[in-house]
Amino acid sequence: MRQTLIDLADNPNFISGIYNYCDRWCERCPFSSRCMVYATEKEDDDGDPEARDISNEAFWRKLASIFEETKQMMVDWAEEAGIDISQVDEAANERMEKRRSDAFKDELAVAATKYADTVTKWFTGFDQVVNATDQAPNEADIQEIERIEEAREVIHWYQYQIAVKLMRALSSRSDEADWPDEMDDQPKDSDGSAKVSLIGISRSIGAWRLMQMCLPEMVDSIKPMILELERLRQRAELRFPEARDFVRPGFDEVLGDAN
Ligand code: SF4
Repeated sequence: MRQTLIDLADNPNFISGIYNYCDRWCERCPFSSRCMVYATEKEDDDGDPEARDISNEAFWRKLASIFEETKQMMVDWAEEAGIDISQVDEAANERMEKRRSDAFKDELAVAATKYADTVTKWFTGFDQVVNATDQAPNEADIQEIERIEEAREVIHWYQYQIAVKLMRALSSRSDEADWPDEMDDQPKDSDGSAKVSLIGISRSIGAWRLMQMCLPEMVDSIKPMILELERLRQRAELRFPEARDFVRPGFDEVLGDAN
């Protein structure tokens, strides 16, 4: 029988909020069995091969039913927090919009978006070279191809996420500027989001280095991207000096530096 969101939320095995500061790579996540979002998605995967297809009507129906289930939870959360969610603050909405758009134009976000574009161009050129090779691969080549594919998967996973998470960090930082002084020592979403981006940057650098090791003839064309990422990492660390200290639920609590 399908469990509701409310049933799932009551499961003590789940780590509260773990999905807020992860990279959404559930296939590779060491905590999928302790994540409510993952469990919810599994509940929705009812064997229909098209259930995950974004254009599939069943998908949207399920999403709508989750929204209905969430409504009651939102009312309860708002009550707990003493917030009246029936009041819409137009000025606050406009402020938020402005902050989103400022974050989008920030030099960090621009640099991260530029990196994502460079990656697309690099792989377009790389695929052309690979497709032009008509030699059948031998056993050693196959192993090398697997390593390259693995590195490529990592690079693509974080390619856009690095920018997205930095934009979120920047925009959350502006929101946090409105916080009252007594909230100063609270964990900040800006730091958590910046940390997720920094982890994506480090992993991408590692993956590009792996590509270089597999493809010595591409070392020079890969080098600028590694340097671009390193510059981005250093600038992000400077702008978010507290990011590394942010404790992500689950990941940092359980794995510490091993993730
Ligand atoms: S915590 Fe893990 S399982 Fe949950 S959404 Fe994030 S990556 Fe997926």
